[in-house]
Amino acid sequence: MIDEVKARNSKARNIHVVNSHRYMMESYDRDSLFTERYEESLCRYCKYISSRIGADVLTEKPCDCCGKMMTFANSNIDDLCIDCAKTHGHCKHCSQEMN
Ligand SMILES: [Zn+2]
Ligand SMILES: [Zn+2]
Repeated sequence: MIDEVKARNSKARNIHVVNSHRYMMESYDRDSLFTERYEESLCRYCKYISSRIGADVLTEKPCDCCGKMMTFANSNIDDLCIDCAKTHGHCKHCSQEMN
């Protein structure tokens, strides 16, 4: 027997996921947070698509470029320090060129 409650819940969840993906893709295309995004030195992917959520633990790692120690409030860490990201025009999070 089909569990109709489960089926309805699944449908609602799936629609929610599709809508949030659609919203992410539209945000990526629109890039309306362009100024803020450049302030943060994030590429369009990291700003709009990639989830910035990480485990809640203080994390330290050196910048891939200059080696300066960086501290993060969670495990979602950046590749580059903000200075290197801005100087070289790359995303601080994934280190791809800014787009
Ligand atoms: Zn650096
Ligand atoms: Zn990026």
